[in-house]
Amino acid sequence: KATKAGTSSGKSDKGTAGTAQTFGFQTEAKQLLHLMIHSLYSNREIFLRELISNASDAIDKLRFEALSDPALIGDDNDFWIRIEFDKEAGRLTIADNGIGMDREEAIANLGTIAKSGTAEFLSRLSGDQKKDAALIGQFGVGFYSAFIVADEVEVRTRRAGSAPESGTIWRSKAESDFTVESATIAGRGTEVVLHLKTDAKEFADDFRLRNVVRKYSDHIGVPVQMRAESDDDATDDESNAAKDAGWSTINEAKALWTRSRSDVSDDEYKAFYKHVSHDFEEPLTWSHNRVEGKLEYTSLLFVPKRAPFDLWNRERPRGLKLYVQRVFIMDEAEQFLPLYLRFVKGVIDSNDLPLNVSREILQQDDRVTSIRNALTKRVLDLLSKLATNEPERYNEFWDEFGEVLKEGPAEDFANRDAIAKLLRFSSTHTMEAAQRVSLEDYVSRMKDGQKKLYYLCAENFETAKGSPQLEIFKKRGIEVLLLHDRIDDWLMSSMRDFDGKPLQDVMRGDLDLPPGDDDPKQKDEGDSDALTARIHEALGDRVAGVRRSKRLVDSPACLVFTEADMGVQMRRILEAAGQAVPETKPHLEVNATHPLLARMDGLTDGARFQELSLLLFEQAQLADGGTLKDPAAYVNRVNALLLSLLGSE
Ligand code: ADP
Ligand code: MG
Repeated sequence: KATKAGTSSGKSDKGTAGTAQTFGFQTEAKQLLHLMIHSLYSNREIFLRELISNASDAIDKLRFEALSDPALIGDDNDFWIRIEFDKEAGRLTIADNGIGMDREEAIANLGTIAKSGTAEFLSRLSGDQKKDAALIGQFGVGFYSAFIVADEVEVRTRRAGSAPESGTIWRSKAESDFTVESATIAGRGTEVVLHLKTDAKEFADDFRLRNVVRKYSDHIGVPVQMRAESDDDATDDESNAAKDAGWSTINEAKALWTRSRSDVSDDEYKAFYKHVSHDFEEPLTWSHNRVEGKLEYTSLLFVPKRAPFDLWNRERPRGLKLYVQRVFIMDEAEQFLPLYLRFVKGVIDSNDLPLNVSREILQQDDRVTSIRNALTKRVLDLLSKLATNEPERYNEFWDEFGEVLKEGPAEDFANRDAIAKLLRFSSTHTMEAAQRVSLEDYVSRMKDGQKKLYYLCAENFETAKGSPQLEIFKKRGIEVLLLHDRIDDWLMSSMRDFDGKPLQDVMRGDLDLPPGDDDPKQKDEGDSDALTARIHEALGDRVAGVRRSKRLVDSPACLVFTEADMGVQMRRILEAAGQAVPETKPHLEVNATHPLLARMDGLTDGARFQELSLLLFEQAQLADGGTLKDPAAYVNRVNALLLSLLGSE
């Protein structure tokens, strides 16, 4: 980790007490710092949440390391986070007796940003303060937020288990560099000293600090303490030891998920969510449950309001914070939820797993599998309730995370039906790009005798909406789902049916329309006749066949694939990914009632017939949003036609 740190430019010996060595911040860290200072003043108090959150993490880490090395804690097993201020000096200190950092750790952790995707994140910033603040929230700026209120920050830290002389002092004025020097520090842990900016002196104030702490840190399992003021009234919950030293605890100091649901307010849930997720925004919804019986665990799961900017990055850390018997074990335990629910944040606290559980063990442990199955159902249930009770909010969810949920049916066969009910699509019924139609809505509107749910996949909504393949459906008032997300073809290949009824791609195979009496002309006509045979001859092996269509009403022609063919969307995705795609030849379906076809039927000019056939084929390709093999030839053909139309006559 230390190798990622900034470059040293100091000349002094490292490790010598009292001589500071200078380091440059990593470029990304520098950019982020700049941002902190110049664009984040609308909600400045969050720096305290971030620093307390770090202190609490540091205590969690110490507890965890002490599982295998109890000497790290020794006799000092009263954990605390302490806040002190000096109004005159404009100084604010946040201290903890957690794990602390050694010199290398201080350089690496406070001089670089280790998170992947930093560069991408920074490139997304728009310069619009409001939007950027939301993005920064998703990214979780943490420590650097100290510079929102401080023009100088000093971190005095000593790693648990190391000697007092091996302490480290880190200092920075948030310019391009920071200094590190060795020092003797009496206790283990970390002290962050903020030299408040002139316009941030308001934070060196007892009342203000207590308010902010209560607002953001009630749910933290560690006592946050301040020195009791003479007229202080908060005395009930402080320990004797703290009272002796003049410290009193000002937060609830009980891990939120261990409290009973009825004791926790919505505001507390929201604050806790911000703590675990590093999100500025409130969660959309949550579910808090204690399970007793064969397995005992507590889960607190949140659905965020907004998708993170790197939702599609498969490497992106995901998962829950894992605790075992209240002891923090790891962040991002991804084994407790399937990939298609990767947007869920929260905590799982198990009473059954061993304290020394590792990621490897998690991967193969039956208890973890049971918990994952239960949590998956829990989330699907939560979403289903949201969809029923608050459809507007469910729509918000769908717009952010719908595409991820669409991975569900393929990944999680057991819950396919439950997931299917949560899916939303555009449709010919609403004729809106917004995906709002559920499969249940669709089924409730099915026509008499309709046995299948029809859908169409296209590159985008506009193409889908205008597809010639929809014509017969529009004419008969049969609803068709209009699918236009990249993943849809794949989704449908793993769905096949809903509510016992098959899903049918209108671009493929036999439509099997409910009996209709509206186009008797095409009813008894076979697949081949003189006209279609002539067109096929003209097109050669560009198509698998030519036949009369039952789908078309207004358009002269369209392309159709067989059930066994790969969907158009899927083929484009694979092609874009540079994969070899098996060549599938479409059938050309023609509308015999169309005047163009009627004219072609009697055409004796062979060359002209050839041209018109090619045009039909090319137009059908274009209508599906496809690209032509030889666009120039198409343009020439059309122009030749136009000229002959304008005519020399
Ligand atoms: P995050 O908390 O998301 O990792 P931060 O920017 O808040 O990011 O902190 C960066 C790193 O600095 C932490 O991961 C941790 O290693 C270290 N750190 C910050 N504050 C403390 C602290 N009080 N005690 C020990 N380490 C800390
Ligand atoms: Mg942090």
